[in-house]
Parts: sequence; structure tokens; C-alpha cells
Amino acid sequence: MTLIDVAIIGGGASGTTTAFHLASKSKKVCLLEKNVSSPEKICGGGMSAAVQNWFPFRLLPIVDEVITNVEFSWCNTDKVVAKLSGSSPFWIVKRERLDSFLLDQALNSGCNLLTTFNVVDIIKQSNVWHITALDGRQIEARAVVIADGSQSPWSKTFNLGPTQQKFASTFSGRIKRRGNLRTETARFEFGLVKNGFAWAFPLDNEVNIGMGTFLDNKNSLPVNEILKSFLPDLGFDPSEVIGHEKKLRIWNGHCKLNGEGILLVGDAASLCDPFLAEGLRPALMSGFEAAKSLIYWLDGEVNCLDAYTKTMQINWGNSMAWGKRISQVFYRFPKVGYQLGVKRATAPKRIAQILSGEMSYEDIAKRVIKRLLFQN
Ligand SMILES: Cc1cc2nc3c(=O)[nH]c(=O)nc-3n(C[C@H](O)[C@H](O)[C@H](O)COP(=O)(O)OP(=O)(O)OC[C@H]3O[C@@H](n4cnc5c(N)ncnc54)[C@H](O)[C@@H]3O)c2cc1C
Repeated sequence: MTLIDVAIIGGGASGTTTAFHLASKSKKVCLLEKNVSSPEKICGGGMSAAVQNWFPFRLLPIVDEVITNVEFSWCNTDKVVAKLSGSSPFWIVKRERLDSFLLDQALNSGCNLLTTFNVVDIIKQSNVWHITALDGRQIEARAVVIADGSQSPWSKTFNLGPTQQKFASTFSGRIKRRGNLRTETARFEFGLVKNGFAWAFPLDNEVNIGMGTFLDNKNSLPVNEILKSFLPDLGFDPSEVIGHEKKLRIWNGHCKLNGEGILLVGDAASLCDPFLAEGLRPALMSGFEAAKSLIYWLDGEVNCLDAYTKTMQINWGNSMAWGKRISQVFYRFPKVGYQLGVKRATAPKRIAQILSGEMSYEDIAKRVIKRLLFQN
């Protein structure tokens, strides 16, 4: 069996990004994906245009809608509209389109792809990773990247990621018309979902409808009840949406994201924002950073995988630590949060800046602390 440089488990946003960057630097890479292709993926598809920074090719051609306004509501009333400003707007993409575009870029750069490869075993022997699929196929690699999403079992197996995993309960679906959702506008509804929010994102001739709850996820999400209240306000009948529920792993503390020859990326690394469920930006960021560290490591710089964990902590984790605190306060007292937070004159702009990647939760928290100190 030929020994490859890197085996990547999972061909979602994080896995394909890692694969593209490694393959474009002539590393021998194989993507192992358990499915063939998916007609529709469970995701809102909202992401900051700042993700463009991690790719040499343009992403705009696969964007369904560029968002210029964000509308917030509390139980469909008390609406606030914020104009998105700045150089990094918010994009809405169809997830399956993004993933297959990134996959094509990886394949065109020389990456191999094995589909229906459902990884069931990963072991390391004499510095070689042996990866086995359910059907008995095997791959041997010098390094392995775990990119198999929220249900990944491997972080626990290899003692990586947060000691306690935390999950949001989510739902996402689509309606094949636009209703009365305004063009270039994303809607966030905070009053109808306990400990969370619902959204409506415009796609090309369609709308993505979703919801997530972030604090107490023992009970199932009352999807139908929420849709019944939310959808008429958007000009839809609740029966129009076809969607699915999913447990989404969210950020839950700083932790190690690498071992010797192994890295976690995307949802498998628990990177998803615990306040707004933003997981695409960290998935693409982690894929880019993981590939950067692996390229040095494969060339003989033995300690550089630790730099990956450190970089993700600085560039993402520090903001998420504040995002987690904000989420715990906001979703525990959402009505107060909506009145004092979202309805504050500058607040929608700040949320818009978070969505666009212009500001981090850390920047915002520091501003608030400074303001409080100054007032006292
Ligand atoms: C309802 C919902 C709405 C969301 N909306 C947004 C949003 O609007 N904006 C945003 O930024 N983020 C959003 N997110 C988060 C975002 O979807 C994730 O953070 C993102 O998908 C992470 O990408 P990933 O590549 O790490 O994982 P995934 O996209 O889950 O990809 C994992 C891949 O691994 C494969 N796989 C799994 N197990 C195996 C195995 N054993 N062997 C081989 N392959 C395997 C899977 O088939 C899949 O292709 C949303 C999430 C949910 C659930």
C-alpha cells in the first residue's frame, strides 16, 4: 500500500479547504468521505465575505445573495434593521454548492477522493496512520486530519478537543420561493425560540429557514410550534418548509486541537460560535491554518503542529470565549438582552460587524468594559 502524506476524514467545508491547500502545495492528499454527494446540506449558509482571505480563487460566483441589511425582531414585533457597513459583507450560499466548489478546487489541485469511505477505525503504528473503512478498505498516511463534523467520535478517542462537548439543537430547511423577505436582507428572530433564535436567509429564488437553541438542549426543539409562529410573518405557510434537525457541536473552552501527526478542524474541533452558530468561517479558517502547519511538519519541522492549536486559539478561540459568556447571559435573559442589547442604537451594527467578521466578541466586550469603567 502506498503511503500518502495526509488522509482527511470528511469532505465538508473544513476537509475540502484543508485538502485544497495541501494539494496545491503538491502534498499527496486523500479525502475520505462516507457519502457520495448530498442534494441539500443542513446549514443556513450565511458566512462573512472575509473567508475570501483564505483562497486564491474567487468565491463570489457561488454566492446566492450578498446581504446588505440585517433585520432583528422579538416575537415578530419590535423590529430593528441594521445596514451592513464596511468592506466585508455577509454572504448566503447553498452549502452543497460551496462544498462541491471547494472539492472541485481540491481535485483540480491533485487531491484524491474516495467516496462511500465510512471511516470506522484509525490507529497509529510506527508513525504511520492506518485508516479503515466499514467495507474494509484501508489507507496509510503520515498525518491525519479529522474533519468529519459534529458527530465525530475521534476527538475523544485521541484526547483532543474540549473535555466536555457542548451541542446546540438546530433545524434548517428551505422554501422554494421568497415570501416577503426583502432582498439582500437576513432576518434574525430572538423571541420565539427558547435560549436561541430563528432565522430566514435569502437564496436564489428560495429562502433558508432555521433555528437553534444554545443553553438547555435536553428537550427536543419544538420546531413545528416555532415555524407556526415565525413563517406567516414572512409570508409562508408552515407546511411549505422541508427541513431536518441536527445536533451541532459548539465551542466550549480552549483546548488542544492537535497531537503528533493528527489535527482536528471545523465542527470536529468544536469551533462553532456558541452565540450565533457561525461555523463556516472557523471551518474554512481551520482548514487553511491546519494545511499551513502540516506543510511545515511534512517538510520536517516537528513541533509546528502545536502552532496550529495556538493560532486557532488566538484568531478564533479568544473571541469565542467572549461569545460563550455573551450567549450565557443573553439567552438566559433574552427579553432584557433584546431590549438592552439588540435595540441599543449601536448594537445591530455591532452584531452585523460580528457576522461580517469585522469585529470579534472580544473587541465588543472590551469596548463595553471600557465604557463601563469610563462611566464610573
Ligand atoms: C441547522 C444549521 C445551520 C447552520 N447555519 C450556519 C450558517 O448559516 N453559517 C455558518 O457559518 N454556519 C452554520 N452552521 C454551522 C456549519 O454548518 C458547520 O459549522 C459546518 O458545516 C462545519 O463544516 P465541517 O466541514 O467541519 O463539517 P461538515 O460540514 O459536517 O462535514 C463533515 C463531513 O464528514 C463526513 N463524514 C462524517 N463521518 C464520516 C466518516 N465516518 N467517514 C468519512 N466521512 C465522514 C460527512 O459526510 C460530511 O461530508 C449551521 C449548522 C447547522 C446544523
